[in-house]
Amino acid sequence: MYRVKIITVFPDSFPGTLNTGVVGKALKNKIWSLKTINPRKFAKGNYKKVDDTTAGGGPGMLLKADVIGKSIDACYKNIKSNENYPLVYLSPRGIPLKQSKVINLSKMKGINILCGRYEGIDQRLLDFYPIEEVSIGDYVLAGGEIASQVLVESIVRLLPGTLGDIESTTSETFSQDLLEYPQYTRPKKWKNIAIPEVLLSGNHENINKWRLKQSEILTQKVRPDLWKNYKKSKTSKK
Ligand code: SAM
Repeated sequence: MYRVKIITVFPDSFPGTLNTGVVGKALKNKIWSLKTINPRKFAKGNYKKVDDTTAGGGPGMLLKADVIGKSIDACYKNIKSNENYPLVYLSPRGIPLKQSKVINLSKMKGINILCGRYEGIDQRLLDFYPIEEVSIGDYVLAGGEIASQVLVESIVRLLPGTLGDIESTTSETFSQDLLEYPQYTRPKKWKNIAIPEVLLSGNHENINKWRLKQSEILTQKVRPDLWKNYKKSKTSKK
């Protein structure tokens, strides 16, 4: 079972969308497990303060190193030192999340995730713990909760037993630096637009050739960065 622990000051955000569809089914089937850790549990005083003003001044509040540190320690309490549970902090400053990273994370025993809020977290946490900062895109959210659900969903769908047909993950977008080809289903004609003839031909060689061509055209047009990698790997295979 893949174990997910999430440090969040808003534990009610979970499981959220992670309780639906194939990912929710996998949770019920114990392919993965989910535990939230609320830093408030480790906060002192009547107000159980988890945040404070930033040193040096400036707008907003920061999650405190002492309470978040105790929350991280709680995540690792029953984990043996040789077991690989990476610690990820969702952050717009992080390395952009890629499918290759998701594949690597899905091969671990589980993951511990820290959700930021307010202006983020005290830098000393990032300096002290082996934290990987991961971003889900070049925009700023109010907190890491939705970002962590994006990360967990992308991992869980790759775990053995989650998807009925694992082949769907090997031919999909990003699997070979290519975007996925266009797909169609019945009816054969809709709003006078027909399904491309080749897809109804039953000739699998021609279908595969057509799909590859469409993937190439789309990738070249929409994602020149991926196209460059694809061309490079194609040339090195020759
Ligand atoms: N002050 C921070 C900065 O400028 O980098 C932004 C903090 S943001 C308002 C609050 C929290 O939302 C972050 O600590 C992080 O956990 C989460 N967050 C916001 N945008 C994100 C993104 N693109 N990817 C992952 N997490 C994000």
